[in-house]
Amino acid sequence: MSKKIQSALISVYYKDGLEPLVRLLHNNGVKLYSTGGTQTFIENLNIPVTAAEELTGYPSIFGGRVKTLHPAIMGGILYRRDDEGDVAQAAQYNIPAIDMVVVDLYPFEETVASGASEEDIIEKIDIGGISLIRATAKNFKDTLIVSSRSQYAEVVELLNAKAGATDIEDRRYYAGLAFGVSSHYDGAINSFFTSGKETTDKELFDFTNLASQTLRYGENPHQSATYYGDLEGIFDKLHGKELSYNNLVDVDACVSLIDEFADAQPTFAIIKHTNACGIATAPTAKEAYDNALACDPVSAFGGVVITNTKVDLATAEELNKLFMEILIAPAYDEEALTLLKSKKNRILLKRNDVVLPQIMFKTILNGVLVQDKDLATEVAAQFTTVTEKAPTSEEVSALEFALKVSKHTKSNTIVLARENQLLASGTGQTSRVDALRQAIDKAKSFGFDLNGAVMASDAFFPFADCVEIAHQAGITAVVQPGGSIRDKDSVDYCNANGLAMVTTGVRHFKH
Ligand code: 5GP
Repeated sequence: MSKKIQSALISVYYKDGLEPLVRLLHNNGVKLYSTGGTQTFIENLNIPVTAAEELTGYPSIFGGRVKTLHPAIMGGILYRRDDEGDVAQAAQYNIPAIDMVVVDLYPFEETVASGASEEDIIEKIDIGGISLIRATAKNFKDTLIVSSRSQYAEVVELLNAKAGATDIEDRRYYAGLAFGVSSHYDGAINSFFTSGKETTDKELFDFTNLASQTLRYGENPHQSATYYGDLEGIFDKLHGKELSYNNLVDVDACVSLIDEFADAQPTFAIIKHTNACGIATAPTAKEAYDNALACDPVSAFGGVVITNTKVDLATAEELNKLFMEILIAPAYDEEALTLLKSKKNRILLKRNDVVLPQIMFKTILNGVLVQDKDLATEVAAQFTTVTEKAPTSEEVSALEFALKVSKHTKSNTIVLARENQLLASGTGQTSRVDALRQAIDKAKSFGFDLNGAVMASDAFFPFADCVEIAHQAGITAVVQPGGSIRDKDSVDYCNANGLAMVTTGVRHFKH
């Protein structure tokens, strides 16, 4: 139903951008009510305005904590215009109708970000404003809520187009926005109080209640994006620019991969577009980094680097030569940090010891898929040797290493590795044969000798072609889930050609 706005309460923190809306309302003959600072602003425009105090009979009290929290105001917003009882009560208590409310809340998030004291932050929890927003949104059948200064311009346009009136669809739309504003606001308050705490799987289902951060853009510049979650709980950002959407996706991939090596020797991994283009473990951090970089120094350019160990100066000197987006480590030596900070935009993160949620989401069609994360990692004890030849102990270690990497690489994937180093992987191919060929070509192009190397596959081999190609390239041991009706073809080929094969019974698709 179209309704002409006849009265409006305006109570906004930031007054910029408000003038055109106030002028329009005034020109439309709307009676204006307002609170202290906003009232002064309107009066300075030479526009008549009635103080909220006049409605409530109270001044703004307790340092502004109570300004509009009063039946005369909440009632004027909430009473149902088509309910005889409500209308009679409004008349009985002399409560005038308020058809429209304009609020811009106290800047809570800004105050937190400014590093203000807890006392100042608590004072910036808006109480009356949020109540005005919720009340007006609830009664959208009769009232219009403008819940943020970002809406002023479009509301001016709307009221101009409809001669100062609104339709029920308009009011319902702005009510929806308003509950979004109030939910976001309470989410920010919630995250202030719970900051640093682990996010539970259950909390992820209500992700809009988590702290949120608007990102510059999404995967591409024309896509908008928001991160919901408490990044500050997981990482201390020591240096560098804001993390982008793609950065965050890669950081997530890095963290999942490196956690496979939590108990290993020093390990470095370099991630590009969520796949490892280099990963190695070694007795020292520097060796691990050097070996990780050697896997594919071309792809490493612009990558995200993660380690499970403290970054010392010797390693930092090597790292400093690489153009990388982000470095993530549990700790840094002071001199290492100073050196790494020399590049202005390089993001340096210190990872905190926070347990991450164990579920993951993906939107599809008109819904969301929720699944457990793939947290299964098979070690030697879970390997079943299916060939006449068993892998050597060195090959077993290499198979474990390769399997961990393959689990975190896009399907279809084949990973070629030695005991402590990725040699190459084929990633995200439409056939495992393509993935293997890609891996072999890559390894050779970076000068690796594949004789005696091992191969891990994310899923079973439906034909003997992969083991045949691998054998021709010099691979001597293979790990795969098994379970194909034609497993025997691959096993027979291995037996005829002296390869060792183990199966795990666990598939690791990653799409
Ligand atoms: P003004 O500058 O007009 O004095 O104050 C405007 C701000 O006060 C707005 O941000 C609005 O959300 C907030 N506000 C309005 N009523 C109340 C109230 O009763 N209590 C508190 N704490 N804030 C209010």
